[in-house]
Amino acid sequence: MLKSVSVGGGFRILKDGMLRIALRGSWKFTDDELLQHVAPIMASHQKFWGDLPGPYLITVLPIAEKPNNAQAGGTGLGDAFAFYSTPNMELDRHFEHGLAHEHMHTWIPFLVGPMSPENNGLEEAWLSEGFTDLFTYRLLVRDGMAPIEETVETLNGIMFTYAFSPARNATNATLGAEFWRDQAMQRMPYQRGLLIAAYIDDRLRRDSGGAYDLEDVMLAMRRIADAASTNDDKPTLRANFIAAAKSVGADISSVLKRFVDNADLIFLPEDIWVPCEKLETNEIAEFYRGFKGGRTRANGNVVVGVDPYGPAYAAGLRDGMKQ
Ligand SMILES: [Zn+2]
Repeated sequence: MLKSVSVGGGFRILKDGMLRIALRGSWKFTDDELLQHVAPIMASHQKFWGDLPGPYLITVLPIAEKPNNAQAGGTGLGDAFAFYSTPNMELDRHFEHGLAHEHMHTWIPFLVGPMSPENNGLEEAWLSEGFTDLFTYRLLVRDGMAPIEETVETLNGIMFTYAFSPARNATNATLGAEFWRDQAMQRMPYQRGLLIAAYIDDRLRRDSGGAYDLEDVMLAMRRIADAASTNDDKPTLRANFIAAAKSVGADISSVLKRFVDNADLIFLPEDIWVPCEKLETNEIAEFYRGFKGGRTRANGNVVVGVDPYGPAYAAGLRDGMKQ
């Protein structure tokens, strides 16, 4: 499979070693500031995977300005990243994470895969996206590009969203089928995959008395993929992950059955990230308004849709009351 980006016009080309950035337009940052943000991320990933710097191209396209609302996105293309953004974008943590995530895709899934061709690989998105996110966050912290406090906040946000997601109990097959139809379904492989990665990382460390963790397994996946003589001989992501875990003495197929196939809820042990803070799992009541908020607003704040079994009714609220 070949993926590429072609752009033309008055582009400026920035270079740092094997990294090239092609961009146009004016931004809230200088060309130099952009290079200074991007180059360490590339270097950190290459160091982790034990690779020499290879050619990498980032194209940056400005899209129409949206006041007070910076929008950015892009697609990872193996050895390139096609990026677009409104010109009011800042070089903040969202930018860094977005870029680092796409760059991590060079390896996960491209160099530890391939993804299963079935359903465009969506049923392996827990690994291709969720594991990509875990290693993205981990390396940004480890190599000094993101403060730990900020990352804790981000992880808390992911766990909170996961716990309250209407898609949290959707099995992997359902997620694959509904991916393009429902936003919660689309985000679930990222959230679930990151938690599965964290869970397995912890389990490997415990079971091996600290000798192995998920990093060893990812590097073993790379070795297995590299050793195959043709692309057709390479095991697809999930099979490769199971084989790589076996190479460090771990059988993870039952964990994948539980969390990936059956969508069992994932609870992480409280000491998983010690010596950082302890992780707390709490029960929080789910918020339920008990009447239709949006429809009530559209109705001139005259209440509609009170659920007779809900808390608003019990508190005395009735259809037709004025808010
Ligand atoms: Zn991605």
